[in-house]
Amino acid sequence: MRKFNFPTLLKVMALIIVIGAVIYSFKNQRPDQKKIIIPAQSVHYFKDPSLSLDKISLKIIYFIPKDRSASINQSWKELIEPAVKDLQSFHKIQFDNRSVINYEIFPDPVIGLLEAIDYDTQDTNRGNPYALSAITDELQNRFFDPAGDFYKGNFAKTESEDFSVIYIIYQGVGASGIQGSALLSLSYFINAEFSGYKESLFYHEFAHTLGMPDRFDEESHIYTSFDILGNGKIRPLANAYIDFETKKEMGF
Ligand SMILES: [Zn+2]
Repeated sequence: MRKFNFPTLLKVMALIIVIGAVIYSFKNQRPDQKKIIIPAQSVHYFKDPSLSLDKISLKIIYFIPKDRSASINQSWKELIEPAVKDLQSFHKIQFDNRSVINYEIFPDPVIGLLEAIDYDTQDTNRGNPYALSAITDELQNRFFDPAGDFYKGNFAKTESEDFSVIYIIYQGVGASGIQGSALLSLSYFINAEFSGYKESLFYHEFAHTLGMPDRFDEESHIYTSFDILGNGKIRPLANAYIDFETKKEMGF
C-alpha cells in the first residue's frame, strides 16, 4: 500500500484553490473589464448623440444690410474661400475623417430686407448675437422655404441625414455661433491685425454651430484651454487643435 504523502496532498489542494479563485474572479468580472471591441461610434453634436455629424452640409452666404449695399466688397469670395478650405481640412483632421464637411458658397452677395440697425439693435456686444439670430431667420425664409426669393433647389438642398449649418459672412460687426448657424464679420478677412488667426476665428464660430462651448470664462475672459475653443482662437490655425475634453462629448 502506498504511503500517504502529505506534501503532495497540500500541493493538490493549493492548486484546486488557485483554479477555483481564477474561475470565481472571471465569472464576477464586471462587463467593462472584459475585453470588448467597441465599434467606432458616429461623431455627434456636443452632448447629443441623436444628432449625427458624420456629414455636415455647410452653406456660406455673404450678407449685406440694405443700407450698406454701396459697401459690398467685390473680392469677398476670394477673401473667404481659402479660410473655408482650411476649416474643412482642420475639421477632417481633428475628427480623424469621421466627420466630413461639404460646403457651398452662395455665388452672389445677398442684400438684406432690413437696415443694419434692425439686425444689430443698439447692442452688438458679445459678438452681435442679435444680428446672427435675425439674419438666420431671414435666410431660412428666403433660401430654404420654397416660397423664398432665393430658393434655388440646388443651394437649399441638403441630404436629410446631413447636419446643416448656415455661415453668414456679415457686412457689419460680429463673431457668434449657435446651433446650426454662425456669423463672422467680413472685416476679419480684411484687417491686417487678424491676418495671423482669422482662420482660427472662422473655425471657432463654426465649432459653436456643432455645440462646442467656449473654453474661457465669460466674466473674467481668462482662458481655460489653449485649444481653438479657448486661447487657440487667437493663434494660427496651423497650431490649433480641439481639446479631448470637448471631443469626448461628441462620440470621439
Ligand atoms: Zn466662442
